[in-house]
Amino acid sequence: MSRRNKNVGRIPLVANFTPAIVFAALGIAALIVVVLLWSDREVDRIARERDRAIVALVLEQSVERVAHAQESSTVWDAAVLQMRKRPLEVNWVDINLGTWFYQYAAFDEVYILSPSDQPIYAMRDGKRTIPETYIAVEDIADPLAATLRRTEAATGSRSNPGMLSPGSADFAVLRGRPAIISAKPIVSDSGTIKQQPGHEAVHISIVFLDDNFFARIGSQYGLAKARYQIAPSSQPNEASVALSTRGGHTIGYLVWEPFAPGSQVTTVVGPVLVLVLLLSTIVIYMLASRLARRTADLEESRAQAQHQAMHDGLTGLGNRAMFELRFEEALHRSRRRKSLLALLYIDLDRFKQVNDTLGHPAGDALIRQVARRLVAEVRGYDIVARLGGDEFAILINEPEDHDAIDHICSRIVSQLQRPFNVSGSHAYIGASIGVAIAPEHGLDRTELTRKADIALYRAKAGGRSRYVLFDPSMDEAVRARETTDRELRKALADCDAQLRVHYQPVFSTRTCKMTGVEALLRWEHPENGLVTPDAFIRAAEESGLIEVLGPWVMRRAALDARAWPDLRVAVNVSPVQVRDRKFVETVRAILAETGLEPRRLEVEITETALMEASSEVATSLRELRALGVACALDDFGTGYSSLSHIRDIAVDRIKIDRSFVQAVSTVPGAALVEAIVALASANGLHLTAEGVENHEQHTFLRSVGCHEVQGYLLARPMPAEQITAMLNEASKNAARVVDGSTPHLS
Ligand code: C2E
Ligand code: CA
Ligand code: CA
Repeated sequence: MSRRNKNVGRIPLVANFTPAIVFAALGIAALIVVVLLWSDREVDRIARERDRAIVALVLEQSVERVAHAQESSTVWDAAVLQMRKRPLEVNWVDINLGTWFYQYAAFDEVYILSPSDQPIYAMRDGKRTIPETYIAVEDIADPLAATLRRTEAATGSRSNPGMLSPGSADFAVLRGRPAIISAKPIVSDSGTIKQQPGHEAVHISIVFLDDNFFARIGSQYGLAKARYQIAPSSQPNEASVALSTRGGHTIGYLVWEPFAPGSQVTTVVGPVLVLVLLLSTIVIYMLASRLARRTADLEESRAQAQHQAMHDGLTGLGNRAMFELRFEEALHRSRRRKSLLALLYIDLDRFKQVNDTLGHPAGDALIRQVARRLVAEVRGYDIVARLGGDEFAILINEPEDHDAIDHICSRIVSQLQRPFNVSGSHAYIGASIGVAIAPEHGLDRTELTRKADIALYRAKAGGRSRYVLFDPSMDEAVRARETTDRELRKALADCDAQLRVHYQPVFSTRTCKMTGVEALLRWEHPENGLVTPDAFIRAAEESGLIEVLGPWVMRRAALDARAWPDLRVAVNVSPVQVRDRKFVETVRAILAETGLEPRRLEVEITETALMEASSEVATSLRELRALGVACALDDFGTGYSSLSHIRDIAVDRIKIDRSFVQAVSTVPGAALVEAIVALASANGLHLTAEGVENHEQHTFLRSVGCHEVQGYLLARPMPAEQITAMLNEASKNAARVVDGSTPHLS
């Protein structure tokens, strides 16, 4: 096709396919990792929440535990009684309410306040000390004691569920250290001792929350690295819970490393998962690329097959199928845009000769060169295709006007007239072009194709190496031809009813006797009357009807000739017949069938046919002459051959064309005919002059030594019976007249 289309069908559609699959796999992997990380974090968050809740509870319980421990001694009749003693029995108090707690419950300090809130006992670090040391804690302890007395006075004893006595406890910072401080009234356990609520002795216990405390809580509840910090931890892997007083005052933080099950799962599972994902991505990649390769191969072979189906192997141009496709597209476009579209049908003129004389490889090389020249003459978006053999077609897309089309056509004609270099020699071929244009000649493919074909036929008939633009009158001619064809076919079905053979006598210039006749076909058309062969022989040649018509004429002539034993009978044969391998066979059969002697038959073939024709014609003529049948070269002088060719032509007779005979009235014409006669005689050829219409021509031809003459002057073509009658007349005359004049001319 055109240069533009050479790459069609090579687009690797699958190239983007593999990366897509790999990206998808990676995307899925990333998603899995994200979900995993998210769920880990979520698990960790839940675990941390839980830890916090536990820690808050633990801290709460720590305070309660202090209060509980206190109650083992503060709710006791003996203690109540002891508190009433003055002075205090300090040894008893040590053992039961003071130092005892240091050993038994790890209380760091214990103070006892009298009902009038006077410190009456103090213990620090397991040792009794003077009660005045209470000063160090009174800021915190006094409010607690006051609260206790207030609530006790308001609600009475046993107001606290789970406790034996009411109490007031809180976290506090004492001397820079976090601590639990708890106040409990010393009350009767039996209830037998009368006490006024809010006016009991108050037992105050302090437990410092030192590192040991936190370590203990940590190990008890699985809190790693639990410790006290004044500020919350800023480490991402640590959690903090505020230590707040009842008044909402934060006194520090319990900090620990929370258990993170999610992160642990991630650390364990993560690498395995990544490995699995990586491996599956690799596997998917490999599978995908294999699939992609396979698909690419398939795509390529499909594209190749399609290319082959649509292209001509020799030239690489599009073939007929491709052309038809592009033609439809171009027509569609032209209809849409209302633009011109020119279809050029190109037929090489003398390609067959080159192929026959130089061989097929040379023919192929020639076709390739033609293709190159055609492509060079059009624009990139025009379409050039090889339809087959020596036939090409071009679509000119959107030419500006008729002039532009004319321009391209004449360029192509002159390009193809230039010699081609094949097998080391120059070959001249030339081309004929038929042109049809959309929309003026039609808008569909079949119509335009038909019209370009008609125009091409005209170009060939008009003498080749030319281009012809379709014209509606050609269509009429073609229709007329088609009618002729149809009718001739009918006539042939019953030859004898409509077809006749007339005979035109041929006379000797020397004896003036009839020496032969030329058989000329006549068609008695039922409506048109007698039709001369010029009007239908060509049509018969083109439709192939000549294959039937030709042998019929010859058989008829041979049968009629049986009545004229002394005459030679000449039959015109068309080149189409002679080219046929069976031609000689047919002639032989007719001779055998009719019993006509071969030497009485002469076939006439036109010069043009002979020159154009190939080796097959030469072979046929040689075989015919071997049979004894003579060959005449008809219409001599109208074709290509020059005088000097005469000696090379393998024929027995030359028939000088009527146009030459007419020219003998001029000096150069006379000289030319004289030269032809001399040359032909010198080469041993017989000579007949055709179309002799007057006495001057006849006299001249006789004077230069032309052997025989034929023409209206002597006799017109006539039915066989008239030839017989003429012969009878002549023999009667010959018997009567002895002076040798020409009786039938008078
Ligand atoms: P041709 O072979 O050159 O035949 C001679 C033609 O010249 C005949 O025309 C004949 O009637 C005509 N003619 C003869 N004398 C004169 C004359 O003095 N003046 C003029 N003006 N014409 C003369 P016709 O019969 O019309 O045949 C025309 C052509 O048709 C023939 O030319 C021949 O080529 C072809 N033809 C005729 N019959 C057959 C046939 O059976 N087979 C084939 N293949 N071709 C045939
Ligand atoms: Ca003839
Ligand atoms: Ca002739």
